[in-house]
Amino acid sequence: MAEKRAFVAREDQAGWCTVVFAETRGEARYKGAGKLDVDFIAVGVNRAPDLDKFVEKGRVPRKLLVEKHGWWVKCTYCNAKVGPEDSLKWHGDFAVCERHPDLNKDGEHGR
Ligand SMILES: [Zn+2]
Repeated sequence: MAEKRAFVAREDQAGWCTVVFAETRGEARYKGAGKLDVDFIAVGVNRAPDLDKFVEKGRVPRKLLVEKHGWWVKCTYCNAKVGPEDSLKWHGDFAVCERHPDLNKDGEHGR
């Protein structure tokens, strides 16, 4: 049985990416299309050997993708597109943009 490897799947329209773990490029495309919620044909995949170490875990921490790989993510609260240039707070694996300074450590708006 082939081993799963990491791929970065990218959709062409808005340029959103996601990491998928798959045995083949075709499987990676299929999974990427599902995760990105777009047509199979709109997805391109590239091998991401430096993310292979996350195969066991099945997911890559978003913080690492943003800080080490320069990815954009969506703010958990307002869906704003945020990235390495923004001063983000991390609540576990969820990014929170600077527009929510009143969020407490549990990720809830203080009062
Ligand atoms: Zn926000």
